[in-house]
Amino acid sequence: MRLVIKVGTSTLAHSSGKLNIRRVEELCKVISDLKNAGNEIVLVSSGAIGMGVGKLNLPARPSDMPTKQAAAAVGQCELMYTYDKLFSEYNHTVAQILITGDDIENEGRRLHFINTMEKLLELGALPVINENDTVATAEIAVGDNDTLAAIVAVNIKAQLLVLLTDIDGLYSADPKKDKTAKLIPIVGNIDDKIISLAGGAGSSLGTGGMATKIHAAQICTESGTDMIIANGSNPQILYNILEGEGRFTYFKGKRL
Ligand code: GLU
Repeated sequence: MRLVIKVGTSTLAHSSGKLNIRRVEELCKVISDLKNAGNEIVLVSSGAIGMGVGKLNLPARPSDMPTKQAAAAVGQCELMYTYDKLFSEYNHTVAQILITGDDIENEGRRLHFINTMEKLLELGALPVINENDTVATAEIAVGDNDTLAAIVAVNIKAQLLVLLTDIDGLYSADPKKDKTAKLIPIVGNIDDKIISLAGGAGSSLGTGGMATKIHAAQICTESGTDMIIANGSNPQILYNILEGEGRFTYFKGKRL
């Protein structure tokens, strides 16, 4: 199976912005195992800004563009260093790909991106993708990695996109406020009701939230790619997902 897995900052880092070592080690182990089992995997990883905040000892996520971009430049190194080290333990080779919205909108650059991805997968490498945050100002950025992951999944014709986050999936109401809120296991059609359940922003270090995840689901399902929102706190959930069981929300792609 060709599979894109997106991990959010809330999964990779503690709220201080420092790496959640146990979580990331487990994630790299499970992904390595899934690759060994014959799956083609692409990782879309957030965490550059969050990790830069930790490494530069900034008091909080910056709000101004230059500091965000500087934090991303520092944090992206830390991210790739960590992935390179952990995946090497299981004999997997990582490749860094940094893109912006502009790169996908330009037909020539989009095709170069797809060709490189195909070649990396053919060579057995593990592409790790993030937005090129140091150059991606508002006008040219995709802006959040949920949408970026959906764009990647659709362009490389992945069967499934998994968004790993800090909640089990989409709920019938906000589970932080409403005790009766229930996890929605399957969404066949993303109608206004589903969109209205998405609520607002995400964690203090990341960009997304449920709204960007529903947007990602719209992009995927329209193009026939399935999408799952699942809790990344236990990366073993990836095994459950491939076996088709467990707690998550599954968005069924349109069969074209
Ligand atoms: N590209 C951002 C980063 O790596 C994350 C964007 C997002 O959280 O969606 O920090």
